[in-house]
Amino acid sequence: MSVYDKIDFERYSRQIPMLRAMGQMKLAESTVAVVGLGGLGSLISYYLASAGVGRLILVDGERVELNNLNRQILYDSGDVGLPKAVLAAKRLKTLNPLVDVEYRDEMVSFDNVDDILGEADLIVDALDDWRARLILDRYSQLTKKPLVHGAIDGFFGQMTTIVPGRTTCLACIAPKQLGPRGCRAALGAAVGMVATLEALDAIKLLTGVGKTAENRLLIVDAFNSRIEEVELKPVECGTCWSRFEDQLLGED
Ligand SMILES: [Zn+2]
Repeated sequence: MSVYDKIDFERYSRQIPMLRAMGQMKLAESTVAVVGLGGLGSLISYYLASAGVGRLILVDGERVELNNLNRQILYDSGDVGLPKAVLAAKRLKTLNPLVDVEYRDEMVSFDNVDDILGEADLIVDALDDWRARLILDRYSQLTKKPLVHGAIDGFFGQMTTIVPGRTTCLACIAPKQLGPRGCRAALGAAVGMVATLEALDAIKLLTGVGKTAENRLLIVDAFNSRIEEVELKPVECGTCWSRFEDQLLGED
């Protein structure tokens, strides 16, 4: 399908006034990898597909569990036990047949990251695991591909957008000790606040419309209905990642 075939003016008529035809065209030409298809990835991939991103690469090796369904809106009760990546691809293809949707039913690792993300223009972190996030960050720094970051912890969340050369890297703001992976507490509507910020920044980066969260860490406080921000100074990266090498490579 050519880029022109991917632009349906009726389907996108409510957003073209904002993104312009040129922005819509840029979306149609873009390939975005959404890594993690849980609470964050469900919404992010849904919004990117509905907005008309030309090609999506969906990455997750997990199966749907019943306790996912309070927030992972791509899946239904009948999906428990089935692979998220397969289900998500099918759902999004139904939502918007103009989008090329590919999936990888596996978790990202140092071994497969280039194979999975090699054709992506933009990487979206929708993970619940700092070790895997740092693999994305490393890859983003090496390839200069932008990385939209988001994370959730109960009523709280954070997001920022990493653009190599323009911003700090993700390792610079990673916790000193990488905790266990997985989600302890999450409420769907609170997860959605972070997910929509991520989806918005992906669209803004691709279209050039609006202002992204580059060099700002947005702290989402869903308990008190507040979003605060911390300024991130672009630093000379180089040694920041090395403090995690033992924690990451030792376990690989
Ligand atoms: Zn850094």
